[in-house]
Amino acid sequence: MNTPTQTVPASFPVPAAHQRLPFAYLPEAQALAAARARLGAVTEWAAVIEHARPWIRAVREKPAPFWAMESLLKEYPISSAEGLALMRLAEALLRVPDVETAVALTADQLGRADFDQTDGGVWAGLSASAIAMSKKFLPGAEEEAGLLKRLGARTVVAATVRAIQLLGRQFVLGRTIGEAMSEAASQRKALANLRFSYDMLGEGARTEDDARRYLASYANAIKTIAVAQGTQTRGPESADGISIKLSALFSRYEDAQRERVFAELLPRVWSLIEQAATANLNLTIDAEEVDRLELSLEVFEALAARISRTYPHWRGFGLAVQAYQTRALAVVDEVARIARDHGLRFMVRLVKGAYWDGEIKRAQEQGLAGYPVYTHKPHTDVSYLACAQALLGHRKVIYPQFATHNAGTISALTRMAAQAGAEPDQDYEMQRLHGMGDGIYREVLADGQMACRVYAPVGEHRDLLAYLVRRLLENGANSSFVHQLADEQVPTEALLGSPLEACATGEHIEAFPLPHALYGAGRRNSTGADLTCLVQRRPLDEAIANTRIPPVPEASTAQIELAMATLQSGFDTWSTRPLAERAAIIRKAGDLLDARLAEFCGLLVKEAHKTLGDCVAEVREAVDFCRYYADQAEQRLAEQTLPGPTGESNTLRLHGRGVFVCISPWNFPLAIFAGQVVAALVTGNTVAAKPAEQTPAVAQRMVELLREAGVPDDALILLHGPGETVGAGLVADARTAGVCFTGSTQVARLINRALAQKDGPIVPLIAETGGLNAMLVDSTALPEQVVDAVVQSAFRSAGQRCSALRLLCVHEGIADGVIEMIKGAMAELSVGDPALLATDVGPVIDDEAFTGISRHVERLRREAKLLGETVVPAASAAAVPRLVAPIAFELPRISDLRQEIFGPVLHVVRWSGDVDAVVREINALGYGLTFGIQTRIDSRAARLAHQARIGNVYVNRNMIGAVVGVQPFGGEGLSGTGPKAGGPHYLYRFCAEQTVTINTAAAGGNATLLAGGH
Ligand SMILES: Cc1cc2nc3c(=O)[nH]c(=O)nc-3n(C[C@H](O)[C@H](O)[C@H](O)COP(=O)(O)OP(=O)(O)OC[C@H]3O[C@@H](n4cnc5c(N)ncnc54)[C@H](O)[C@@H]3O)c2cc1C
Repeated sequence: MNTPTQTVPASFPVPAAHQRLPFAYLPEAQALAAARARLGAVTEWAAVIEHARPWIRAVREKPAPFWAMESLLKEYPISSAEGLALMRLAEALLRVPDVETAVALTADQLGRADFDQTDGGVWAGLSASAIAMSKKFLPGAEEEAGLLKRLGARTVVAATVRAIQLLGRQFVLGRTIGEAMSEAASQRKALANLRFSYDMLGEGARTEDDARRYLASYANAIKTIAVAQGTQTRGPESADGISIKLSALFSRYEDAQRERVFAELLPRVWSLIEQAATANLNLTIDAEEVDRLELSLEVFEALAARISRTYPHWRGFGLAVQAYQTRALAVVDEVARIARDHGLRFMVRLVKGAYWDGEIKRAQEQGLAGYPVYTHKPHTDVSYLACAQALLGHRKVIYPQFATHNAGTISALTRMAAQAGAEPDQDYEMQRLHGMGDGIYREVLADGQMACRVYAPVGEHRDLLAYLVRRLLENGANSSFVHQLADEQVPTEALLGSPLEACATGEHIEAFPLPHALYGAGRRNSTGADLTCLVQRRPLDEAIANTRIPPVPEASTAQIELAMATLQSGFDTWSTRPLAERAAIIRKAGDLLDARLAEFCGLLVKEAHKTLGDCVAEVREAVDFCRYYADQAEQRLAEQTLPGPTGESNTLRLHGRGVFVCISPWNFPLAIFAGQVVAALVTGNTVAAKPAEQTPAVAQRMVELLREAGVPDDALILLHGPGETVGAGLVADARTAGVCFTGSTQVARLINRALAQKDGPIVPLIAETGGLNAMLVDSTALPEQVVDAVVQSAFRSAGQRCSALRLLCVHEGIADGVIEMIKGAMAELSVGDPALLATDVGPVIDDEAFTGISRHVERLRREAKLLGETVVPAASAAAVPRLVAPIAFELPRISDLRQEIFGPVLHVVRWSGDVDAVVREINALGYGLTFGIQTRIDSRAARLAHQARIGNVYVNRNMIGAVVGVQPFGGEGLSGTGPKAGGPHYLYRFCAEQTVTINTAAAGGNATLLAGGH
């Protein structure tokens, strides 16, 4: 029993941020070399194989029952249509509240898989019959469901639900902690050396209510375990305990919210620690995503410091370390350092890591310098052994807990431990997940020497779905040990092969192109910044602190006249420069901009009041525009020879039109400005660029950069000033050969009329305007994912994106829960100074916008039902002008939304019945910019996307942040003329075309034909 030695205040001071670990994006070869060096000359691998061989034999002689996960995935690997269908159903079916949708989901998933091919063996049990039956009865397409079929379908869906429940139960020890503990007790009867670490299942908290619920559930679990174990004096190593996820205890457990993490999360964790320490149990903090690693160590050290003062003799505090991270060894050493500094001993669970696929995707999306995780499975295995070696070396201050189901890893570990003189049980333990590795551990534990702790999830069916899918993925991956063990075709030598021998060699050993090379050899991806990494964030902070916005003079009528004359005369030279030269200049501009991320972020924060994350994304977009359009120009503008009769040559050429007027908005003062300008320039036009009145300095700096890259003075001129005078003057000018505009539908109409009234050539207008963007959510969607997507799409950038979500259409069956969660998530948003990393929502652009949005909000307060709003702290409101609190209202019908409010205002409508009718109503709004669909019914998503008269459709994600060349952006209807920016058809609109036909027989005959050619 540990009793507190002193009482301490509840608050935790926030330590100064500092980089604890080496830079995250070490080349894989370097990280691997360090791991190999640390591992040293590992035991003879042949002996490792021999040690494990009997385990494999024994397990394979007693194959898992037909309903076990291993058997299932052997029959239906996750890479097959059946495996995927199974996973999709497992993830979604149980949460669908209405029968219609459950039937549609089941039909959709089973329709694409072929479960009839089974041999009747392993899968002949419940799941097989349920799924086979489902296939027979279910209608092929949702709408074909007749009454009889439907009756059949209901039965089958019920059977499938049951099958999935049984599947899930394999991985959950009990629905409640009490149930789980009695199951644990019965397992312990068979294997005495079992210990348990209970895990209360659920998605990460999105709201304060979620977090408090999890806290209560953890607290109750610790209390229950403590009561059951009584006053236990054996020490926490041999006691049962609990595993906690910090993301469950605080909805904003992220680096950007450090202050709140210390103020709000730590006291919660501390309350659990007090309970666990008093009962002398163990409490382990799970490892989550890489971008939380540094923060998790800060949290861990702050808690350790207090433990050392309050419960100096408690040895049950610990955390999980992921070996797949290239910084894993540094983490192990850092944890040992913390233990020594605070005079404590920790329990450290070494895992390989559960979020590998997500980490690879995130690194690519963010354009990071490298991957934070190993990209080859054997490298993770080597890192695991190296970390194990390090942990064994630190065992004075660390009790190592080796969590793995891999017999090769277990065998190597136990040998390494023996060489290090570490006694099983006393000096370290093994760990496995409930429902996995049972067979292997039955053998490993047989002689009674080794101790093993089971990570035991506890929860209701609804809570286990995400966990179940992770386990399905883990078990189903081809590289997974458990998967290969179930396949008798894999010989023992291959199964247990040395990871050291399987390592890649060379300097660049990443298994995927690095994020900068994502688009292949041709176009380099723009460089991102990981804002959770201090080394990367610091230059941005410094740039923001040092940025002063220079004044930009307005253009007079005389200056406009002079500019147009200059650009007109500059056109001949610029348009006849070889295409390759123009493309090279634009590409160089992209490279210069890529290298000046910090400087431009400073300008964007100061002039456009954008938050840090938005600034980074915007600079990247501008860089991508430069590189993409340069590539596109070279590919698409090259002269083409056309087929025709002999004796004639036909060539098609594209060239610039003349002086293009580019009018851009303030909401993307760099990306849209640069995109328009470089598209016009690279195609050979000269450009009169009119930036938004609110943001001329960013534009001016971009023009300077383009000049530095080689754009001549008479090819590009910036003309700052009001739209009514400067913009209108440019549009009206007789020399204007085309207009590229992004802004409101109203102004686009004015420009269109002005152009139509002019004499002279009819010139192109490329207009990208606003939208009444909707997201349609059906009852198969995961509410947590929906809420993340809604909050980002509706409120990020203070709702000042053309793509922003304005109208959420959510299925009646889940509406209450989703709305409640949105409300809770809105309450957690931080509204304030955009220069602060913690700020989610900065101010709106100017007083006019502020007044306009406020007026709309006042009207909605009277006319609609208020659902939720974010509270702006008084201090922020006083310090930062024009803050508008995110707010959400419910409207009775979709058609009640009539106007785009360019701010953080969300409208919500409930729907039921015909999902296609919802899309028809959305189409009827007349806009067509962005559309979100949240459903697990794949055929439904495809059909709705087809029906939508909308330019950009996003399925099961947020609906903002289109990436150049990846999601070409632009709408139809009232939302714009097209072609899409950042797409393959954009440049053509800036060009005139010329066909040159030469009669090659004109000189008297067809020499080529006569010479035997064609
Ligand atoms: C008790 C316990 C607690 C756990 N707690 C956590 C936790 O807090 N946080 C967490 O993230 N995970 C946790 N896990 C999950 C754990 O990460 C996986 O179960 C584990 O990675 C499976 O490893 P293995 O040795 O059993 O299997 P193996 O089949 O040997 O290894 C599979 C693992 O290798 C890695 N891998 C797969 N493909 C590649 C590749 N191409 N390149 C590089 N690496 C690859 C992945 O990490 C994958 O999970 C825990 C597991 C246990 C047993």
